Amino acid sequence: MTYKTQRIYILSIIVLLSFNCTKKIASNTDVKINQPEVLIDKPYLILISLDGFRWDYVKRFQPPHLSKFVEEGVQAESLIPCFPSKTFPNHYSIATGMYPDNHELLDNSFFDTERNALYRISDRSKVKDGSWYGGTPIWVQAKKTGLTTASFFFVGSEADIQGIQPDYFIDYDGSIKNKDRIDQVLEWLEMPANKRPQLITMYFSDMDDAGHSFGPNDDKKISEALIRLDADLGILFSGIKKTGLPINVMIVSDHGMLDIPIDQYIPIEKIENDDLYRVVNNGAIVHIYPKTDANMEDIYNRLKSMENHFSVFRTKETPQFENTPHHKNWGAIQVIPDKGWYFTSQRYIGLKKSAGKKISGEHGFDINLKEMHGVFYANGPAFKKNIVGPSVKNIHIYPAMCKVLGIDVPAEIDGDVKLIEYIFKGH
Ligand code: AMP
Ligand code: ZN
Ligand code: ZN
Repeated sequence: MTYKTQRIYILSIIVLLSFNCTKKIASNTDVKINQPEVLIDKPYLILISLDGFRWDYVKRFQPPHLSKFVEEGVQAESLIPCFPSKTFPNHYSIATGMYPDNHELLDNSFFDTERNALYRISDRSKVKDGSWYGGTPIWVQAKKTGLTTASFFFVGSEADIQGIQPDYFIDYDGSIKNKDRIDQVLEWLEMPANKRPQLITMYFSDMDDAGHSFGPNDDKKISEALIRLDADLGILFSGIKKTGLPINVMIVSDHGMLDIPIDQYIPIEKIENDDLYRVVNNGAIVHIYPKTDANMEDIYNRLKSMENHFSVFRTKETPQFENTPHHKNWGAIQVIPDKGWYFTSQRYIGLKKSAGKKISGEHGFDINLKEMHGVFYANGPAFKKNIVGPSVKNIHIYPAMCKVLGIDVPAEIDGDVKLIEYIFKGH
C-alpha cells in the first residue's frame, strides 16, 4: 500500500466511523436495511468532473473509453458555463443548479465587502468554510432526503454547507493519483448496501493542467494527457460495470480553454492603485472595489482612459453577464480583457518568458465563445443511448441529477429539468 493509498484508507476509516454515528439517527435507515430488495433497485449516480475538458476534445482525439461511453449514452453538443468561466463558480453552479450571482461563489477569488475578507481557492480555511457557499449542493439535498453520499473531490464538498457534508469525503489534494481516487470510489461501491453511497462525486484536473501549460491547440500534448486520463477512466468504467449495480454516470466539465500568446498577457500592476481601490484579478475579469463609494465615477473614468486591449464597465453594464449582476461582492467596476488577452502578474509573465513559452491556455472569458464550452456526457440505466442533444447550460444538470436520484428539486434553483429531459428514457 502506497503512502497516499494508506492515507485515503485511514481517512475513509475516520469518515466511516463518523458516518456510523450519523447514520443511527437517519430516520429511514432501518427500513432500507430490512428490505434488501429496495436497496437493489435504488438508483446510483456518479458525477465526474473533468476540469477544463473542452467540448471538442473527444471528437478531435477519439479516446477509446470516453468515445465508447459517449456512443453508448447521451451527449450534449457542449456544456455552457456561467460567466466568469472559471473553475469554482462553475463547479458550484453544477453542484447547486444556480448562477454564481445566486449561489454566491462568484469567482475563483472575490472580496466580501461586508466581512472585509478575500475568498481565494488557495485559502484552505475559506474553501472549507460553509458560510461562503449559498444554495443547496446536490450532496446536501441528497443527504437531507436520507441518501448516503460520498465525494472524492468536488468544489464545496469539504465545506459544512447548511451544517451538512458528504458522508465520506476527502480534503482536496491534487497530488492524489487518479488510480487512488478510482480505487476508493470502487471500494465505496463494494460496501454493504446500507452503507454504500448512492451519490458519488469525482474530480480530475488533468485536462485543465495540460490546457493551461500548452494551450488547447497543442494536439500532441493535449492528446497525450487525454489518452492517459482516458485509460484511468477505462479502469473506472469497467470497475463500475463489475459491481452489477444500476449506476448512472454523468460526466461534466466546468469550462473550455483558449490559446493565449505570451505577449498578450497584460501585467495587472498596470491598473492597480492601492490608494483608490482594491483589485481582485481573475485573469479574464478583474473585480474593482473602490475604497469609498464617493470616488466610484472618478475611478471608472480613470480606468476607462487606460483601456488598451481591455474594456472597463460599471458592474451592472458588463455585457458578458447573462443576467444583470446584483451581488455586492462583484465590486463596482469590472475590467474585461479582449478575447485572447489575459491579466496576470509581471512575475508570472517573466516566468513564462524565461521558460521559453510562446503559447499558454486560459479560460474565464465570455461564455458566447465556443472555446469556453465544456462537455456533458451521461451513460447508465436512466439514460437513452446514442443521442446527441443541443448545447445545454450547466445549471440544468442539477435537476437532472435530482431526477436520477428520485429526490425533490429545491424551489430556488435557476436550472430547469425540461431543458435536459431529452436525455432520459421515456422522454
Ligand atoms: P483554475 O484553472 O484557476 O480555474 O482552477 C483550477 C484549479 O483548481 C485546479 O488546478 C485545482 O488545483 C484547483 N481545485 C480544484 N478543486 C479544488 C478544491 N476542491 N479545493 C482547492 N482547489 C481546487
Ligand atoms: Zn476549471
Ligand atoms: Zn483552469
